[in-house]
Amino acid sequence: MKVLVINCGSSSLKYQLIDMEGEQVLAKGLVERIGIAGSLLTHRTNGQKTEIQQAIPDHKVAIQLVIDALLSPQYGVLKNLSEISAVGHRVVHGGEKFARSVVVDAAVMAALRECSELAPLHNPANIIGIEACRALLPDAPQVAVFDTAFHQTMPREAYMYGLPYEYYQKYGLRRYGFHGTSHKYVSRRAAKLLGRPLSELKLVTCHLGNGSSITAVQGGVSVDTSLGFGTISGTIMGTRCGDVDPAIIPFLMEKENLTPAAMNDVLYKKSGLLGLSGVSSDARDIEAAAAEGNERAELALSVLAYLTRKYIGAYAAAMGGLDAIVFTAGIGENSITIRERVCAGLEFLGAKLDREKNKVRGQEVDVAVAGAKVRILVVPTNEELMIAQETAELVG
Ligand code: AMP
Repeated sequence: MKVLVINCGSSSLKYQLIDMEGEQVLAKGLVERIGIAGSLLTHRTNGQKTEIQQAIPDHKVAIQLVIDALLSPQYGVLKNLSEISAVGHRVVHGGEKFARSVVVDAAVMAALRECSELAPLHNPANIIGIEACRALLPDAPQVAVFDTAFHQTMPREAYMYGLPYEYYQKYGLRRYGFHGTSHKYVSRRAAKLLGRPLSELKLVTCHLGNGSSITAVQGGVSVDTSLGFGTISGTIMGTRCGDVDPAIIPFLMEKENLTPAAMNDVLYKKSGLLGLSGVSSDARDIEAAAAEGNERAELALSVLAYLTRKYIGAYAAAMGGLDAIVFTAGIGENSITIRERVCAGLEFLGAKLDREKNKVRGQEVDVAVAGAKVRILVVPTNEELMIAQETAELVG
């Protein structure tokens, strides 16, 4: 069975065609600048890269181009479109309506539109992608796989904020959590790596990338997570602030004469690693600056590591124990120094990093010292494969 995975952003589209026998990626690519001058499709198969530059006014044209590339006699991988058994779509927000992936029908589309208020920048693009695929691949079932669904298992005390209850009822104000597909994938890989049933395990999965979230995964389900209603709480991120005292927000709005949109801009785009360091939002640049003695870069790294460590401790307490810490995403998979900084001081929990074993990037490996009670794992995430697996399961 071949599954096409689509991740639609407002002006971009990522795709992978995966053969589920052997879980092999047959082709993958990226359409950039949809609806903007300079549109570009980059298509990759077997190490071969093809770039197609042409006007791509909307997502339907983008998906048609992807289909043409997949069918191309020169660089394609399909003879016939009917070889695509299903399409799996990444959808950012499923609200409280979706606790698992679903095959899309008219009722699902209506529910997705209702969830758009919760993710106004993302869900509309995801919906456009689904509609375009339905029009161009009418015989393939479309499956929606949500970033939020994995966290729908959180207990009420973990997802409710201490705000007047009517705001939860009126506006759905609660913790939803994101990166669910990644946390689910790495928790399953972690169980495999540990050779233990997932149902027995208490894990803290640290998805540290440009966006970051930390999740307590107990018995294979999410019981708490650091992102909430929006995507800014928890540890600091590339440009997002992480946990701040809410009292700061009205204070700053008054002092700096900021509108809600301008305040949002500060919290989402000018804060985090960028705001603290003044150097960059990219962890590699900040590591390099810190190594050269830049104090604000050093501060940014230490805040990231401290907040992450604090969440690990908090979630060990929430679960009443800990079997493994899992590092994933760009920073978690690749940054030797940030993993070291996060784990420094967690020895009291039984988590001790082996500094030699930790000298790895982008590999599935246990980097704890031999015999330590809590294992420390590096697991490269693979959200596309998780989406394809869920899609295949639903339509298979
Ligand atoms: P992601 O959003 O998962 O793609 O992660 C992006 C983040 O990963 C950026 O902050 C990168 O600087 C960081 N990253 C990627 N490779 C490395 C590396 N070798 N060392 C440190 N950070 C890295």
